Amino acid sequence: MSLAARDRQVIWHPFTRQKNMVPPVPIVSGKGSLLTGEDGSEYIDAISSWWVSLHGHGHPYIAEQIYRQAMQLEQVIFAGFTHEPAVKLAERLLPILPGPFSRVFYSDNGSTATEVALKMAIQFWWNKGETKRKKILAFRNAYHGDTFGAMSVSDRGVFTLAFHDLLFDVVFLDTPTEENIDSLRAEIAEAAPETAAFIYEPLVQGAGGMCMYPASLMDQLLRAVRDAGIICIADEVMTGFGRTGQLFASHYIDTKPDIICLSKGLTGGTMALGVTACADTVYQAYLDDDKYKTFFHGHSFTANPIACSAALASLDLLLQDDCLERIATIAAASLQFADRLRAGNYPVRNIRTLGTILAFEVEQGADGYLNEISAKITAPALEKGVYIRPLGNTVYTMPPYCITKTELQRVFDCIIEVIGEIS
Ligand SMILES: *Cc1c(COP(=O)(O)O)cnc(C)c1O
Repeated sequence: MSLAARDRQVIWHPFTRQKNMVPPVPIVSGKGSLLTGEDGSEYIDAISSWWVSLHGHGHPYIAEQIYRQAMQLEQVIFAGFTHEPAVKLAERLLPILPGPFSRVFYSDNGSTATEVALKMAIQFWWNKGETKRKKILAFRNAYHGDTFGAMSVSDRGVFTLAFHDLLFDVVFLDTPTEENIDSLRAEIAEAAPETAAFIYEPLVQGAGGMCMYPASLMDQLLRAVRDAGIICIADEVMTGFGRTGQLFASHYIDTKPDIICLSKGLTGGTMALGVTACADTVYQAYLDDDKYKTFFHGHSFTANPIACSAALASLDLLLQDDCLERIATIAAASLQFADRLRAGNYPVRNIRTLGTILAFEVEQGADGYLNEISAKITAPALEKGVYIRPLGNTVYTMPPYCITKTELQRVFDCIIEVIGEIS
């Protein structure tokens, strides 16, 4: 039996309707931007395998560091113990984060990083005796993960439909525009006395369809939030580590967050790891003789040494000049492709880029995640050796930083071809 057939006997895939599921593509290896299938076909991974593979697949340096750490210490309980990779990673992250952060809390993935942030912010007020401050502000169309707290602060849409009754109440705001900024300020002022925190994806709402909004307006909004005493939580799970052209998207915005969530590219896409870093003001609320003011949260694999070593290795690669140059090169090529799309007579609109992210909508059917056009683009692109996975009718690219100019050009040419074929 083929691997795909064996898979269909025993596996339930994420985000995938199981009935009549297209057989999954068996992948046997990955090198740089390329994934190699069982039959020898090669695919350029133009979306970094769900936005995680920063330096491409099978990077020998990260692999070596993972091996070295696995031989030395693969795991140790993190309550009452510590280890070099966890401490070193925190020491190296804190100075490069956007804002004066003072502590790092480790978890396993992006959803847990946001859960930790929400709990940290809510209990901050509880510890201070301000028990009325429990509400969370979030953006409409947001995505912060798939666990219950993360779902609660995410868009009430198709992902969460079956659970709406069970999710906690959130005050949802539109992303800022010139037109709505004043009314947003009013909404914030009204919610403020009961609000613990505001969670946002800075500048790009990823899973919501790569929706982008301007830094200057976001700064105005964040200033209103900050003035109201509300804790600002930047969810940089997707935007972190160079994706937007800056090391973090919050670097574009003057008002910095009090808490930041990281995962995805943190380990260069090699190991599952989440980070929630907080400012000292947040941490101070937990320094107390009262046992009840402890942050009772943790995971079995909190600060796993192998994952922390992978993150250190990924940081080594990311902070090299040539990597930052490659990010700039991808950004420039994406801008050029955006111009090409605009100049051509293609059935697309709302073409936008930020750093290494390029996105646009295909004008066919209703907007949204369930638009069937996604499958009609993914399959033919795959046949041409390019892997993209549109979010509904939103086509986007987010390549690993190691992608060559030729490979990137092949991705863009392929997109033009596929779009030509569907229209
Ligand atoms: C992917 C993502 C998450 C969830 O991360 P997981 O590791 O998939 O749980 C949270 N927030 C943002 C902005 C994301 O893009």
